[in-house]
Amino acid sequence: MHTDNIFNFEYSYLSLPDRFYSLVHPTVAGQSEMVLKNAALLKELGIPTDQTTRLLAVLSGNEVPSNSTPFAQAYAGHQFGHFTMLGDGRAIILGEHKTADFKRYDIQLKGSGPTPYSRSGDGRGTLKSMLREYLMSEAMYHLRIPTSRSLAVVKTKGPVYRESIHPGAVLTRLMESHIRIGTFEYASYFGGTDDLKALVNYSIQRLFPEIGQDENPVLSLLQKVMDLQIDLVVNWMRVGFIHGVMNTDNVAISGETFDYGPCAFMNAYHPETVFSSIDAHGRYAFANQPGIIKWNLARLAEALLPLLHKEADKALVMAQQAIEQFDEHWKDRYYRTMLHKLGIENRTTEDEGLVDELLELMKVLKLDYTNTFSALSRGAEGTVNPQDHPALKPWLEKWQISVSKNSQGLDTAKSIMKAYNPVFIPRNHLVEEALDAATAGDLSLIERMLHILATPYEDQANCENYKTPPESDFEANYQTFC
Ligand code: AMP
Ligand code: MG
Ligand code: MG
Repeated sequence: MHTDNIFNFEYSYLSLPDRFYSLVHPTVAGQSEMVLKNAALLKELGIPTDQTTRLLAVLSGNEVPSNSTPFAQAYAGHQFGHFTMLGDGRAIILGEHKTADFKRYDIQLKGSGPTPYSRSGDGRGTLKSMLREYLMSEAMYHLRIPTSRSLAVVKTKGPVYRESIHPGAVLTRLMESHIRIGTFEYASYFGGTDDLKALVNYSIQRLFPEIGQDENPVLSLLQKVMDLQIDLVVNWMRVGFIHGVMNTDNVAISGETFDYGPCAFMNAYHPETVFSSIDAHGRYAFANQPGIIKWNLARLAEALLPLLHKEADKALVMAQQAIEQFDEHWKDRYYRTMLHKLGIENRTTEDEGLVDELLELMKVLKLDYTNTFSALSRGAEGTVNPQDHPALKPWLEKWQISVSKNSQGLDTAKSIMKAYNPVFIPRNHLVEEALDAATAGDLSLIERMLHILATPYEDQANCENYKTPPESDFEANYQTFC
């Protein structure tokens, strides 16, 4: 096997005890074809974009670079509330790419064949789902939300069997780290205290060196992860993002959104919106996301108990106190962000009512989440056509009074709102249309969509259909899959 080095790989993760990973090579994908390549990101990472043959060979899993020791990560997790052993069943980390400015990123192939953690799975991905992850993750990045990135999608040889037969693909995913709450659960429940300690120390060193000298770095780690997750989920709520499968194994401690299986963006506002085919009870519905992330953080706190304090009862009190802080932090950051969506500079508690009242009106009137805020930010008078919705008039009057208290009134409001309210989101019906075309060999729609979603806060000419929500029939029957 020979491949000149494309990546500058290191393997800090392999310094952990060997129960945390399995060394495994990608399964040879056979005749492959580059479908999407993220040239801007490759460039940013210092990876040559012109060496197309070598890049294809490595990103398909056909050739393992000579400087690499690929591995799959072990982890556990609570799936829909139930604890289980998991691990990378269809993902392999090629290595940690170190950039010229000393940033470190996991470079992971997703769908590159089975691993020791595959259980009954085939370790593969369908072209459609890998393209979907590419599109959604890049859209999130440009919405300025922390996320895994997508470097490429490579179509592989041979069919992938799901409910029907699909072309297969490998996605190259990039993250600051794939360590998740489930990694800590794994260490705590399947390993010894030394394993847990090693994971904590490694995580701090890799992601949060600034807390290493704190009085209780384990507690600081819990608080840090809580902060990052609150910021993240507030941002999801800001743009109407529904992750869809917030199991503890899908919560990265780095605070990056990841695992873009059944995620989707909400069109008409309804707090109970859920699209995932496997979420029959709406556990991961839009408005449940803060409660779920709190629940997940409590699982992290539990896993950390043996290290929080040497006396078990004190450790428990510490964990409980940390988790109890969630509600106040959430409320503070949620309303701050939502009031920025309304262009309110300095908030008062009364302003919080404005947010709740608008959401209630939007729910009753079935207003489009994105377009309502976008119209408020960009409308000539900062209105959402009250003549169309007389029910909004009293609310608009109250809002205008709040806005008038800004230092520069409506002008301040508009400039804040433009940074918080996108014009464009990936509309479910257009995502499906683009993915179906791409799977059939026509990439023009997905490329156009990626282009528009690269500047989602800017209005763009000739894109009216990208702002139009789907017909309610489409939405009512829309289902997403893992
Ligand atoms: P997810 O719901 O995407 O977080 O996946 C849950 C678990 O199932 C993870 O351990 C995945 O690695 C594993 N998994 C998902 N799809 C497959 C597959 N096709 N083959 C093997 N493992 C899989
Ligand atoms: Mg996952
Ligand atoms: Mg997944």
